[in-house]
Amino acid sequence: MRMSRILSLLTAIIGCMTTLDGIAATIYPIDQASILAGSKFDLRIELDNVVEQKSIKAMLNGRPIDQLKFSGTQFIPSEAGKGSTLILRDVVIDQVARYQLKVNAGAEQAEVSWDVYGTGPAKVKNVILFIGDGMTIANRTAARVLSKGIVQGKYQSALSFDDMPHMALIGTSGSDSLITDSANSMSAYMTGHKTGVNAMGVYVSRAQNTLEHPKVETVGELIKRKTNKSLGIVSDAEVEDATPAAVVAHTRRRTDKQYIADQLFASNAEVILGGGSAYFVPQGSPNSKRKDNRNLVEQFQTKGYAVVATRDELVAAGKNPSTKKLFGSFHPDNMDGSLDRFILKKNTVPQYPNQPDLTEMTQAALNVLSKNPNGFFLMVEAALIDKFNHPLDWERAAYDTIMLSNAVQVAKDFAKTHPDTLIIVTPDHTHSGSISGVVDDSRPGPLREKVGVYANAGYPNYPTANNAGYPEKVDVSRRLAYFYSAYPDHFETMHPKMDGTFVPAIKGEGDVYIANPIYQQLQHDAIHVDGNLPARADVGVHSADDAVLTATGPGSERFKGFMDNTEVFKGIVNALGLAPTPLK
Ligand SMILES: [Zn+2]
Repeated sequence: MRMSRILSLLTAIIGCMTTLDGIAATIYPIDQASILAGSKFDLRIELDNVVEQKSIKAMLNGRPIDQLKFSGTQFIPSEAGKGSTLILRDVVIDQVARYQLKVNAGAEQAEVSWDVYGTGPAKVKNVILFIGDGMTIANRTAARVLSKGIVQGKYQSALSFDDMPHMALIGTSGSDSLITDSANSMSAYMTGHKTGVNAMGVYVSRAQNTLEHPKVETVGELIKRKTNKSLGIVSDAEVEDATPAAVVAHTRRRTDKQYIADQLFASNAEVILGGGSAYFVPQGSPNSKRKDNRNLVEQFQTKGYAVVATRDELVAAGKNPSTKKLFGSFHPDNMDGSLDRFILKKNTVPQYPNQPDLTEMTQAALNVLSKNPNGFFLMVEAALIDKFNHPLDWERAAYDTIMLSNAVQVAKDFAKTHPDTLIIVTPDHTHSGSISGVVDDSRPGPLREKVGVYANAGYPNYPTANNAGYPEKVDVSRRLAYFYSAYPDHFETMHPKMDGTFVPAIKGEGDVYIANPIYQQLQHDAIHVDGNLPARADVGVHSADDAVLTATGPGSERFKGFMDNTEVFKGIVNALGLAPTPLK
């Protein structure tokens, strides 16, 4: 075919696509969505034109959608000046099948197909899901080197999740972007639906209010609505942060933290433990970030929760046989990591010296939740791995990966006496970063010449870890050469940051971030590194690299090969049998 003919054909095709695109309605849940039989979702039909409600013909497998089960409808004649919108709230489809939804409204039409699936009977009583937020393979390797030691190429022991029998690579991309954040990646684990960056428990529609986007039901809600099991949410971040929030909350914007705190309270989860007390106390009280006078701490107490604010109180409440419900908030913001709490005593440890460890929160949660003979779902997040990968602070990320390993060990010990427990350990997404050698201070020359690679790397000289698995000295003379590959302008020091978390870049002129000069003042041979991210980036970013999931216990055999993150939801609901007798 001649080039001019190809070009004119292409032009015609593109023109045609544009025209069709211009008059096609948009439907949520989106095309290719998988929907758990019996779970609730909002059906939203967005038209480009203003039409009358009665002119919208929507047929699901040939039957009008008003024959579906739903709690109510809403018709918006003209939404945001764009066109009409029809919403069906809390739709439930019980029958397992492939579905085709066809919408016609005047000149507009659209079609999506959904797969509604069942689970079969329950295979397990309890599910414990550990999220190592942003945890990479390099984080794991660094944690294993520091915590377990390596001699002549052999690790002296393993992380607690290294020996789990089932492993999968997880694809983490969202519906809108290759690169996910913790909101939409956790939302995929918790709902089985893909969504966009910053969103959880909703599809990203054209709704103007962040709380009005079409909802999909979460594992936390399914546990509460369809079972007699208990629910636990544990994180060392603010408990309103994206990962813990996505267990129960629905919002287009993860920064709706006051609303998320309200949702956590309304969820009736038996255990809620973490940081973020600022959103649980009324405005005007110390550290409060609320915009109203609601005192959720008091309301938890009124609802019968044991309320704790320190490690000592947590341990006591966890051991108390009468504790049936437990709310603990140990920090107004994110909690401190284990390198600071145990070794360096930096960041906010001096102000909050009595914060619990993730192991103690996990143990207290298991003590309380296991009192329910029907079982439980517990989510435990090691959030700070991500919080330290962002500012390129690999040592702090490694210490918190060791802490995650310790917390998983608590769960494995629980599973020894409760074998009907599925344990899943997975990142929600990854970061850049890998180990390229060993930095040896005794090597001559400028800083970069101290990086030994291949045979020159040898081994680092971190001291043998203490009983808790942590080396008590991190600024040793032979250290891992751990380099991130996506970064802002910064100074590479090749040393641990002993005075507090690394702050790689600070605001320069306008929106541009520049290397933080303090690190050159502290260490004169620090190397200036020109950023490879846009100049407005002040920290490193998430990666599309696969996440490594490991699992053990009944139902864990489902996790294998490469899996989409929505398949993790299916693994959880399948193990719990949340759609046990679907109609065919
Ligand atoms: Zn992150």
